[in-house]
Amino acid sequence: MTAFSPAAAAPIANPAPAKATRVTIAHGDGIGPEIMAATLRVLDTAGVELAYDPIEIGAKAYAAGHSAGIAPDAWDAIRRNKVVLKAPITTPQGGGYKSLNVTTRKTLGLFANVRPCVAYQPFVASKHPGMDVVIVRENEEDTYGGIEHRQTAEVTQCLKLITRPGCERIVRHAFEYARAHGRSKVTCFTKDNIMKATDGLFHRVFDEVAEQYADIEADHMIIDIGAAMLADQPERFDVIVTPNLYGDIISDIAAQVAGSVGLAGSANIGPTCAMFEAIHGSAPDIAGQDIANPSGLLLSAVQMLVHLGRADAATRIHNAWLRTIEDGVHTRDITGESTRQAVGTQAFADAVIERLGQSPLHLTPAAYQNATTTPDHDAPRAANLVKKPTKTLVGVDVFLDWDQPGRDPDALAKALHRASADEALELRLITNRGVKVWPQGFPETFCTDHWRCRFVCRTLPGSTVTFGQVLALMGRLYAAGLDVVKTEHLYHFDGQPGYSLGQGE
Ligand code: NAD
Repeated sequence: MTAFSPAAAAPIANPAPAKATRVTIAHGDGIGPEIMAATLRVLDTAGVELAYDPIEIGAKAYAAGHSAGIAPDAWDAIRRNKVVLKAPITTPQGGGYKSLNVTTRKTLGLFANVRPCVAYQPFVASKHPGMDVVIVRENEEDTYGGIEHRQTAEVTQCLKLITRPGCERIVRHAFEYARAHGRSKVTCFTKDNIMKATDGLFHRVFDEVAEQYADIEADHMIIDIGAAMLADQPERFDVIVTPNLYGDIISDIAAQVAGSVGLAGSANIGPTCAMFEAIHGSAPDIAGQDIANPSGLLLSAVQMLVHLGRADAATRIHNAWLRTIEDGVHTRDITGESTRQAVGTQAFADAVIERLGQSPLHLTPAAYQNATTTPDHDAPRAANLVKKPTKTLVGVDVFLDWDQPGRDPDALAKALHRASADEALELRLITNRGVKVWPQGFPETFCTDHWRCRFVCRTLPGSTVTFGQVLALMGRLYAAGLDVVKTEHLYHFDGQPGYSLGQGE
């Protein structure tokens, strides 16, 4: 293999035809520049009529003092063109640096992560020859808000935020994707048997939206059994839609199970902007050697072309790539029994270019169509779907840092009763890590220094209390020397509790 030479692998003069669509290009770090050069050569030879605006992200931007790995003027180029093709970057180790991917997704509102995971057996070894699954992952919400707090010596917490508009647009995106790509089933993964409010909302919205897509089959699985099935029998799935954290995990499992982590591309889609990238990293161990596989970035560029309404070009390039794989022209990472010619990065791109206009003989050919999605389908429309509920305050959960010797819940309850004796709100329940420890707790339950103490209306539990009464209670607890680290209001929405019961309540 020869070393990578940027000049030799430069995109062929990108003539930028008069009507070319401008796309922002990030060459990235490590193997980024060489796989980007290979990808752009294929695109340009296929005549996709794109013009490129390069931006600097990653190592150089971090070194220049931009803690998120991107300079301010790069944002302008991204927002102007609205579409980014991004090579992987090297994320510096250690504190103070923010993940560029997370920053980009959230800043640009790229709410949907779409990752096709396909097996190319027998040409690339896979334990699941029939696998062809698309994971549609919610990209902005869930625990990825990064809202975390340390509240006591022993306890930290992370806020999991699931919103109705967020659920609506990701679920709708999954169904629209299925429709546009001729897929027949969307499966929702949640853990709503445990997280009834947050994951329960995701599941409920999935059921509501599914009713509007009668042509697509819809089902739901609890994430744990769903992930097990995905690893064992991925052929059972078509499109999967799931909240952020589960999606992050299962999309890597799915890519690995397909046998093609180095081959998978992904799309991050928002209402105005979109970013396309391979799922692998910058592979510094093989950088500059012309041995990296450019397929992940090339296939994400194919997703980009579909997004740009260039279904013909996307189909042509994807089919040439499939034919290259079938013909046994392979980079080092995927060589195996069916390899006939082991090639480097740029020679692989040459092989794809030679096959433009050809189709695979064994693998299923690509046949993209320009999407005819429901207009404005990505816009959140919670306001139209749901009547604003009537919200009433019925109590408060007070979280205490309390570490008296023995950590006896009965002793804490006595202290709270003494402090709140004349107040409108009365102690109803104490939990520790969500488990009821008072009244009638079990001595076996392990207790930390973090206690959730539920107060409700003294005279008629479940009836309305005022914020003033909550404040008065806080004042009394503070005066009694109790350390309140956080409160959560207990609301009813249209008379229904908007909070979970304590485990064992
Ligand atoms: P990696 O994906 O870069 O590499 C893992 C292994 O796979 C390495 O052995 C590598 O040589 C190989 N590999 C990866 N891509 C390949 C390709 N296209 N062709 C052939 N072999 C390939 O993961 P890592 O080593 O954990 O991370 C390296 C750097 O990349 C880190 O700084 C990490 O933070 C960053 N990273 C960036 C992104 C991104 O920008 N989207 C994603 C993941 C990791």
